[in-house]
Amino acid sequence: MKQRAQLQLDRRSVLKSSAAALGGALFASESAEAVPGYVNTDSRPSDLKITDLRVAVVVDAPMTCPLIRLDTNQGIYGLGEVRDGASATYALILKSRLLGENPCDVDRLFRKVKQFGGPARQGGGVCGVEMALWDLAGKAYNVPVFQMLGGRFRDRIRCYADTTESHDPKVYAQRLKKRMKEGFTWLKMDLGVDLLKNTPGTLTAPAGMSKHEQVWTQHMFTGIEITDKGVEMMADYVAQVREIVGMEIPLAADHFGHIGVNSCIKLGHALQKFNMAWLEDMIPWQYTDLLKEIADAIELPLLTGEDIYLKEPFIELCRRHAVDIIHPDLATAGGILETKKIGDAAQELGVPMAMHFAGTPVSCMANVHCAAATENFLALENHSVDVPWWDNLVEGVEKPILNRGYITVPEKPGLGVTLNDEVVKQHLMPGTSYFGPSTEWDKERSWDRLWS
Ligand SMILES: [Mg+2]
Repeated sequence: MKQRAQLQLDRRSVLKSSAAALGGALFASESAEAVPGYVNTDSRPSDLKITDLRVAVVVDAPMTCPLIRLDTNQGIYGLGEVRDGASATYALILKSRLLGENPCDVDRLFRKVKQFGGPARQGGGVCGVEMALWDLAGKAYNVPVFQMLGGRFRDRIRCYADTTESHDPKVYAQRLKKRMKEGFTWLKMDLGVDLLKNTPGTLTAPAGMSKHEQVWTQHMFTGIEITDKGVEMMADYVAQVREIVGMEIPLAADHFGHIGVNSCIKLGHALQKFNMAWLEDMIPWQYTDLLKEIADAIELPLLTGEDIYLKEPFIELCRRHAVDIIHPDLATAGGILETKKIGDAAQELGVPMAMHFAGTPVSCMANVHCAAATENFLALENHSVDVPWWDNLVEGVEKPILNRGYITVPEKPGLGVTLNDEVVKQHLMPGTSYFGPSTEWDKERSWDRLWS
């Protein structure tokens, strides 16, 4: 025992004398001896602390996307992004819970703040912060995020793109065909009952519904049902699309409209012969039993997930086989690690994972790292193929970011992107600042324990 203490003492004095020999500069702090060579020399991960959280809100990307930046006491910063369409407040409310914390403790901080997230946009702040923590941890240890998740299963990520709707199936099919020419190997189309609204005898619906009722009433409560004639018309629309894009390429369908469960089943039967890749969000994700009823009745993959927060509801859907494919939005689901956990849990139950995404390249890269590290991944959505300045928002990654239907997984530390300040400033929400001070959020407090 005494010998060991003596040995440690000797080691310390050797270090101290080496420090003296080197003029003391290299060993200014005793903890410096714990910093291995691969670590970012500007950063001592164990002493890293969050000093600020600021936001810059980008608009028309095509969505509104609040970017967040976590600053630290060592000059490195982390980038993240609140879910498209959500308020930056969802992130700012977390600031006081993060100041002074070490961002490398990603999971501990995620667990600290996850009570402030919820479904859909409510999850945006927690997820944006989680992305920024990974970006910081990666920069501090000099590794890309996918590496910290356990490494990658693929070095490029298959994408599918949102495509502007047309009521003319030939026009729509040509737009999808253009996506194929651009290199996309997976397609998704909108297929809503709005196609039927000018054709008598295709929809049964109560007259006089207000716009608000139509938008905010969940599917089972609208009283809107498709007639056989309506189902035939929608199937004919898909037939014309398939005629042009062919049967070989996966073709998913979304945005059916707020129709009842029986209409979903009728439509599912009619679409079977077109081998749809999936039918998305036919009814809201909360109704597990009803989703299972549809999934059991039709012979096409049913999918949901873009508004689900945290892994538990996904696991329940997969365990019950109420859907055939899950579709988390990483900026709602709980961030990078939670989404990987969702994918892994689904895989054990035989369920693949596609990923919903509609943000800037910052959140896109969070998705890319997660998709690289999750084995049962199918394809990642992109809503910005037609936004000419989208790529220019960032630097440091291969351009074009989305190249021939794929995104290359970046190998730089963290998420692998830096912001192009000038371009981001050109697309800020009018009247807002570029990462301006947010001191009003420094002292936000409550008793955060969820139990007594
Ligand atoms: Mg969708």
